[in-house]
Amino acid sequence: MAVVNEDFLNIKNDYLFSMIEEKKRDFKKNNPDTKIINLGIGDVSLPLVPTVINAMEKATKEMSKKETFRGYGIVQGYDFLIERILEVEYKRRNVNLEKDEIFIGSGSKSDLAGVSEIFSRNCKVALMDPVYPAYRDVNIMLGRNDITYLKGTEENNFIPEIPNEHIDIIYLCSPNNPTGTVLTRKQLELWVKYAKENNSVIFYDSVYEIFIDDEDIPHSIYEIEGAKEVAVEFRSFSKLAGFTGVRCSFVAIPKELKLYTKSGEEVDLNTLYRRRQSVKYGAAPYITQRGAEAIYSDEGQREIRENIKYYKENAKYMKQELEKIGFITYGGENSPYIWLKLPNGIDSWEFFDKLLNEVAVVGTPGVGFGNYGEGFFRLTAFSSKEDTKEAIDRITKSFK
Ligand code: PLP
Repeated sequence: MAVVNEDFLNIKNDYLFSMIEEKKRDFKKNNPDTKIINLGIGDVSLPLVPTVINAMEKATKEMSKKETFRGYGIVQGYDFLIERILEVEYKRRNVNLEKDEIFIGSGSKSDLAGVSEIFSRNCKVALMDPVYPAYRDVNIMLGRNDITYLKGTEENNFIPEIPNEHIDIIYLCSPNNPTGTVLTRKQLELWVKYAKENNSVIFYDSVYEIFIDDEDIPHSIYEIEGAKEVAVEFRSFSKLAGFTGVRCSFVAIPKELKLYTKSGEEVDLNTLYRRRQSVKYGAAPYITQRGAEAIYSDEGQREIRENIKYYKENAKYMKQELEKIGFITYGGENSPYIWLKLPNGIDSWEFFDKLLNEVAVVGTPGVGFGNYGEGFFRLTAFSSKEDTKEAIDRITKSFK
């Protein structure tokens, strides 16, 4: 008998997004001529920049010639990309990492799941709430049920307090999806201190790092002293450079970071992840990695920052106009997400229905990101400028 791994039965169906799709379908059926504007998507809308396209075309041509053809890649990633990451993402911020501490992947979603596998199923996990729901589901699939939710509320500005219990794995997401809030240097110092005192590991998800504007907000957790001993950092080219469909990411796993066997012996995560990758992962494609490398040229940087500016202008416009009609909003600065506080007594699905039925605009109910997301609503800045403007005009006219 082929027995199922029952941990897989413990994850909830993807209720949130299937429900949104179903509601959109019903609306469309009843209102075939009304254009629905989606401010709920977490995907980018601008295409790849020319520098990336040129680099990928060049790499594709190399593949067509016997002399320059590339077969199986290097599982860790090609040096040409890793060296640029070390230089631009780290050295320029006074962080020194070595080449064998960076692993190129195919998106942070799978990187987050891959690193998580190396920890025991008995580890106690802490997640911010509200947060990106995949963290929870990955841990449940791995049989980890001891999950503490660190509450993010208006009172603590969605920055959870340091727990007063022992936690083995802490997920920190900054800039946070969905609240848009960022962790300050002081807060990160406290988390690093906690992790050191508790032999815990921080999973630092900073896939929205490019949106950080404030001078004093760290771009990498390794800007904090001692973080290399306790933190794994996840970064992605998805939002950074519009690679949601191309798929490329990287994970930093410093060699100082140790895990322990049951009997207390030290093992290093870097070595075990390398082993895991060589068994389970086939390396990110050469063409993809050439595309990613291209964003680190001067022209590439200029072009991707132009795109980020476009989304930031959307965020600014949304926040400003919504606040004008009395909404309380969070995020929208240092982040592509606007976290909208709903007027008293309206729950997040009720608001979803209202927005869809009255103005044909779609967003994401806050409760989809955790129980503490109830009473809030996520809007994203990733739509086109025209759609964003039209959606906000419709909302402001109707909800004044
Ligand atoms: N982490 C967070 C917080 C996200 O919001 C997302 C995607 O939306 C991811 C990770 C996954 O990104 P990727 O496209 O690199 O898999």
